[in-house]
Amino acid sequence: MMIHQAEFIGSSVDYRKCPDVKNPEYAFIGRSNVGKSSLINMLTNRKKLAKISGTPGKTQLINHFLINDKWFLVDLPGYGWAKASKTKKEDWEKMSRDYLLYRSNLVCVFILIDSRLPPQKVDLEFIHWAGENQIPFALIFTKSDKQSKGKTSKSVAAFMKKLKETWAELPPVIVSSAVNGAGKEEIIGFIERINQGKVG
Ligand code: GDP
Repeated sequence: MMIHQAEFIGSSVDYRKCPDVKNPEYAFIGRSNVGKSSLINMLTNRKKLAKISGTPGKTQLINHFLINDKWFLVDLPGYGWAKASKTKKEDWEKMSRDYLLYRSNLVCVFILIDSRLPPQKVDLEFIHWAGENQIPFALIFTKSDKQSKGKTSKSVAAFMKKLKETWAELPPVIVSSAVNGAGKEEIIGFIERINQGKVG
């Protein structure tokens, strides 16, 4: 299963202004610089569909892309911009959190985690918030090409251990790399299986 069509539909400041809820929707979120734009471009085979970041001050919006004329891929404003002002951070977070809480056609949100780092407080807090609010999510560990497979496995295991302290059930996990394409088939396959009603 591949993505052969990815069309930018629009940017919204608010979940209430997002496109019609006629398609199943999958969102991507993560700490700034986690590799979200690169992953979206890798999944859709497009170099510049999602803008590679670097400008903490840039406008943060909810971006909708229609994939294969069938489902929406949503690029959500990231959390944890180190350099943004507190008010801006809160606005972006509220935009994403309201979207995740109230968007009725949202099927799953992929929460991106940097596979090189030990468990980060900001990620754990976000995951706990998603869990408490019963938002369906899966984890994607990014940038796996930057280190050995063994190191990535250890990183994932450390993260799962942290989650186990609070949760009885662990989320699905996929390891990815925008550089060598790792995780691409798994992520698209995961989405396609849900769309075909085989899981979820
Ligand atoms: P975003 O802020 O989450 O959208 O992150 P970006 O996609 O803009 O990526 C942040 C930086 O990490 C950029 O310099 C990317 O080139 C780099 N990057 C992103 N994904 C990968 C990856 O899978 N492997 C490697 N080696 N670098 C990556």
